[in-house]
Amino acid sequence: MTRRAATATAANAAGLDIEAIRRDFPILESTVHGHPLVYLDNAATGQKPRATIDAVNGFYRTTNANIHRGVHHLSIEATRRYEDARGAVQRFLGAGRPEEIVFVRGATEAINLVAATWGRANVGRGDEVLVSQMEHHSNIVPWQMLCEQTGASLRVIPITDRGELDMEAFEGLLTDRTKIVACVHVSNSLGTINPVEEIIARAHDRGALVLLDGAQAAPHLPVDVKTLGCDFYAIAGHKIFGPSGIGALYARHDLLEAMPPYQGGGEMILTVSFEKTTYNKVPHKFEAGTPNIAGAVGLGATIEYLERVGMERITAYEHTLLEHATGVLAEVPGLTLIGTAPAKAAVLSFTLDGVHPHDIGTILDQQGIAVRTGHHCTQPVMDRFGIPATARASLAFYNTTDEIDALARGLHTVREVFG
Ligand code: PMP
Repeated sequence: MTRRAATATAANAAGLDIEAIRRDFPILESTVHGHPLVYLDNAATGQKPRATIDAVNGFYRTTNANIHRGVHHLSIEATRRYEDARGAVQRFLGAGRPEEIVFVRGATEAINLVAATWGRANVGRGDEVLVSQMEHHSNIVPWQMLCEQTGASLRVIPITDRGELDMEAFEGLLTDRTKIVACVHVSNSLGTINPVEEIIARAHDRGALVLLDGAQAAPHLPVDVKTLGCDFYAIAGHKIFGPSGIGALYARHDLLEAMPPYQGGGEMILTVSFEKTTYNKVPHKFEAGTPNIAGAVGLGATIEYLERVGMERITAYEHTLLEHATGVLAEVPGLTLIGTAPAKAAVLSFTLDGVHPHDIGTILDQQGIAVRTGHHCTQPVMDRFGIPATARASLAFYNTTDEIDALARGLHTVREVFG
């Protein structure tokens, strides 16, 4: 079978027309250093479909105004588009009501919001916050800061050699003092899809809440927070092919109602006097100041685009890409995959004997291939595996087996250069 035929077959099996999808993403037509761009850095950020670019552009051309307080036509229309986008995120995450979606800058801000408001109100001296060893720094540091401020302790679920959570250790670490389990749904450096249903069930049994960092799950898997039963879920717009500077926090309505505000300012208030300020209803209580209106509109358009493509189809297609990539990378001499869990999203972290990951990235770049090298904001994962860094190819639904083969050829070239 030719490589192009392999791509077409994979696409047909999942019901996706990959050639048509690629035409939706203008940047994929670029060349880099004289080669067609092979973009395999999707875990850092996803590329943007024309639907998103046009929505942002169109908003500024035709609808731009500040939201919520205007009586004029443009302000009313901008408010409608912003709130429609909230509805799109609600659908995308399977939340019960739009008020459970708070617009934030990204996954980082979503987690900081929970740590700063729910955390300070509910976590005290002697309490415990449980995170895992595979967290992104953005799901470690806010909790560490909270623990420093409150006298609570941070406990860590270890990971196995395959890059899975040690669920037995998790059981042992869960105590009546555990207030919250903050855990990544899909790891950005290992690709592991964590058994979040089980984590939620066990945590809830002990009376602890669960925050899931969904930054890397949302681009790859259908997410339904109601079925999952999690208490908080964080996503970043730019990783699901939307604009940067916009993201969302899902939080259970009763929790949001009880949480103190995050930042103070306009929009989050009902009345202000020097004696007393009263706060707006949720979610506006958590959205102080002028938000990223165009970003939210662009995110809404992105979600509509993803709904047309179909998240189930994306998951199925990416699985075939992952299998293909795992196979061809195994043939590169001296290559070690870091993260070999059976339940994995299409993220491949690896080291190459005798070659620094930055050199891998630089040589691949000369061939137009974009991968990321470094610790991927998961230094504890690097420490766990005793390495300073990895090279990481992270795939999206517009990638093809041809591109993976180009990566493999590039790695064979790296091998030749370094002997
Ligand atoms: N969590 C995970 C698992 C991530 O991969 C990232 C981004 N690399 C983040 C959180 C933070 O997302 P953002 O920078 O968009 O806030």
